[in-house]
Amino acid sequence: MEQTPSGPIDILGLTADELASEARRVLPGSAWVAHDLYARLFTTGRFEPESFPLPPTSVDGWHQHFRAAPLALKKVSEEETNAGATAKAVFETRDGYEIEAVRIPMGAASQTLCVSSQVGCKMGCTFCETGRMGLLRQLTAGEIVAQVFTARFVLGWSPKNIVFMGMGEALDNADHLISALHVLTQRRGFHYGHDRLTVCTAGHAEGLRRLAALGWKRLNLSVSLNAPDDASRSRLMPVNRKTPLAELQRVLSDYPRRRNFVLGVNYCLMPGLNDSRADARGVADFCRPLGRVLLNLIPYNPGHAPLTRAPEDKEVESFMGWLREEGLAVRRRATKGRAIMAACGQLGNAELRRRPQRAQDNSRGLSEDPEP
Ligand code: SF4
Repeated sequence: MEQTPSGPIDILGLTADELASEARRVLPGSAWVAHDLYARLFTTGRFEPESFPLPPTSVDGWHQHFRAAPLALKKVSEEETNAGATAKAVFETRDGYEIEAVRIPMGAASQTLCVSSQVGCKMGCTFCETGRMGLLRQLTAGEIVAQVFTARFVLGWSPKNIVFMGMGEALDNADHLISALHVLTQRRGFHYGHDRLTVCTAGHAEGLRRLAALGWKRLNLSVSLNAPDDASRSRLMPVNRKTPLAELQRVLSDYPRRRNFVLGVNYCLMPGLNDSRADARGVADFCRPLGRVLLNLIPYNPGHAPLTRAPEDKEVESFMGWLREEGLAVRRRATKGRAIMAACGQLGNAELRRRPQRAQDNSRGLSEDPEP
């Protein structure tokens, strides 16, 4: 596993109180600016200790011990859809890895930002481009938050909702994910409501238990199902061998929920693999004990090495009809960003899979603290 970049502490991975406490430890004389500096950083996008009435040595101290900066932007691609423009941003981490975030239009005035939680992913879902990369390294909390920070202050996007559904299994990086959730909800920071955040998982039982322990009943949760029986699900999603459906069902049933909580269940429809009448019945059987469920039906997006073709509209409609006959609430997820490889299961590609030279140099100690 790669080490994450070292050097000054990344404020984007800290809550306001954590910053104040760290500042009291390393800069006791000027720690009093910590909360205001934090609020200004998340309002303006600028880390400027020099804008406070501090002696130059203290300003230098702040720059020496702390940093807060957007990710380097490598590329932005856009695709117009009926719902608006979907945009994929490719960012570069300080040690040279590329990660992706996607802005998804949600009607006239609303945007959702889908962020990455890992460089690659070790879960190995066979229909997913990121799964083919393997896990190169975990993203830090600061790097997860930095995707939102960069989207807002560099790209000028205004995401109302954040979903953890980009590259990686968010709950396989639970420590950093949970820290990032704390930062994103800071009153002096971006101040996202818990109900504006959605954690998505392929069914990481241990991570689900840790998330449950937060007791955040307004936090949204969605799980990728993709097959209704253990044999087919284990073929599509190796995580099922570790956490079979019965166990997943138990963990989800124990998840703390508010009265109007609706569990998202994502189902990627793959012709010939998981789209039969019996599959629809099995999906309903899995969901029935889980309380209120909204099934998001996602037409398969073929990537670079497709498992099958994309379903035709009539196939999607048939499957939705069967699910409704079984009593499930179903929504068809509009396909957004397929042409720019920004749709579900398409993030990560052969270019990103190559381990960057800069990351190799860092791991050999040739560059200690790469600049963004
Ligand atoms: S679908 Fe999600 S969990 Fe599965 S390999 Fe892709 S990124 Fe990982």
